[in-house]
Amino acid sequence: PAVLLVGRDTTEVTAAMRALAAREHRIRAIMDTVMDGIVTIDEEGTLLNANLSVERIFGYSLTEVVGSNIATLLPDFDTRQRDGSIYNYLANSFGTVIGVGAEVMGLRKDGASFPVHLSVSELRVEKRRLFTGTIRDLSENRQLAQRVDYLANHDPLTDLPNRSLLTERLDQAVTHAREAGGLVAVMVADLDGFTTVNDSLGHESGNLILRETARRLAQNTGAGGTAARLAGDEFALVVRGLADLAEVGRTVEHIRDVLARPYMIQGTELTIAADMGIAVYPRDGEQPLDLLRNAEVALHSVKRLADAQLGFFDTSMSFAVTERLTLERSIKAALDAGQFELFFQPQVRLGDFRLVGAEALIRWRHPELGVITPDKFIPVAEETGLIVPVGAWVLRSACRHLRQWNDLGLSGLRMGVNISGRQFRENNLPDLVAEAIAEESIDAAALDLELTESMLMADGEGTLKMLRALAHLGVALSIDDFGTGYSSLAYLKRFPVNTIKIDRAFVRDLDQDEDGRVIANAIISLAHSLSMKTIAEGVESETQAAMLARYGCDEIQGYLIGRPLPAADFLSFVGKYESLARPLPQLHEGGET
Ligand code: C2E
Ligand code: CA
Ligand code: CA
Repeated sequence: PAVLLVGRDTTEVTAAMRALAAREHRIRAIMDTVMDGIVTIDEEGTLLNANLSVERIFGYSLTEVVGSNIATLLPDFDTRQRDGSIYNYLANSFGTVIGVGAEVMGLRKDGASFPVHLSVSELRVEKRRLFTGTIRDLSENRQLAQRVDYLANHDPLTDLPNRSLLTERLDQAVTHAREAGGLVAVMVADLDGFTTVNDSLGHESGNLILRETARRLAQNTGAGGTAARLAGDEFALVVRGLADLAEVGRTVEHIRDVLARPYMIQGTELTIAADMGIAVYPRDGEQPLDLLRNAEVALHSVKRLADAQLGFFDTSMSFAVTERLTLERSIKAALDAGQFELFFQPQVRLGDFRLVGAEALIRWRHPELGVITPDKFIPVAEETGLIVPVGAWVLRSACRHLRQWNDLGLSGLRMGVNISGRQFRENNLPDLVAEAIAEESIDAAALDLELTESMLMADGEGTLKMLRALAHLGVALSIDDFGTGYSSLAYLKRFPVNTIKIDRAFVRDLDQDEDGRVIANAIISLAHSLSMKTIAEGVESETQAAMLARYGCDEIQGYLIGRPLPAADFLSFVGKYESLARPLPQLHEGGET
């Protein structure tokens, strides 16, 4: 017997196999680091191989998918419903060239379908025809693209648009205004002393302030407007569709108020003033970049001044608004300093010329400017809401005077108090009135609240509720300046109103023309038919008084009887008047007395 030993040197083979394994491993590793899913399938669509991203994208583990049909992942590839050849499918779906990408739907293990981008290439391995597909999850991709786009146009801290998006929006606003008319205001604001706050309270607090400022601005952009963060503590606001410069002024003041509200930081209130620079299209520039630059120029010129907080690119505008701001601050100070005072104007009954009441009219006794009449400051007080504290002061003060008159033996006098629209919309007005009456323990019926038509015209149900609440207190209600609004007496009938005050304009027209007489006569008759009393305002001549008497008007008020007087003068007027009171027959129509 012989033994034949055959020995073979396998060094090379093992090395080659190792190298092959290593290469496969490397390829595998590369495939697994690719974000896209990579699959290899045969002509029947059976999945031969997949990388790790397939697990991530589709939610299956690789052992679950390898060996199954590709239709599990990409239902569109259900080759069994076609001719069984994925090649034909691909050829039909993508045209003759394989490898061109297409968007198809993917199906996740949890049943959700989502868009994927698929590229296919053909792979010949010996005689077999295989295909590799690269699958990109578009849902991830889209979110990412949107996020990138968002970040390019927004400030991540406040989520506001950044300068580039603002410029784009401003461009749209300007284009629109060029066609449709109207003004566009560009405001640039910067928080005064923000750096100090940031340094002393910390970045977290600083960020809170910036986010809160952003929120306030974003809520006040108006229709189609844009708020943006330009840099650090610099913000911008574009407001469009403004009718005229007056509206620009009001908008700017409103934004200033919004920014001036205290910030709640770490449980304490913090007031941070904002400086603002304003430019207006088309006056201060035609191009978005010019407007933005001019607003910034205005801001920087404001910052150089110690006190100013608003700067218009056009300085005349600055002046008008600053003047109003000064007035606003002065009104507040005047209230605290007790510079307001009530004057009283007598009201008499036409039948016997007896004194029946007085209207309280506010005056501002200014230390330098002297006595200022309400038309100079009531409108600003109305707009800024200061009328609410001022009006409350008027109410209390009027009741206090009435109490004094009663104490002096002047009983039976009625006290007229003007109520502004803003006050009328404050829900606590009835409480305020009740308190004033109780404090001075006066007769509620002696208090006569003068309301205007426009107040009664607004919002039917709320108005009715408010009027009922006031009437319930027992006070009298009058409609001031009647005839200047557009309300009809028939409309006012449903309100618990006692008296109509005929506006001065109709009284003035009494001795001018026939129309004036017809209107005054009609108002008086109508009021009476609705059981309302009438009082004519601004009666300056005996002729006017005589005519009003003839039409049956109940009472008059005006220079003929007396001008509004300070409290002390009013009292001495009353003393003299009572002894002077003349009966009506002495009056003659036609002016000669
Ligand atoms: P009003 O309520 O119509 O007050 C009557 C105004 O006519 C008063 O002006 C009065 O001085 C003036 N007047 C009175 N008789 C005559 C006259 O014979 N001829 C002429 N040409 N004018 C006469 P005043 O005091 O300057 O008040 C102006 C307006 O300011 C008032 O109009 C009223 O709307 C408002 N107002 C005055 N006081 C207050 C107040 O305490 N609160 C509120 N909310 N408004 C007030
Ligand atoms: Ca009045
Ligand atoms: Ca009036």
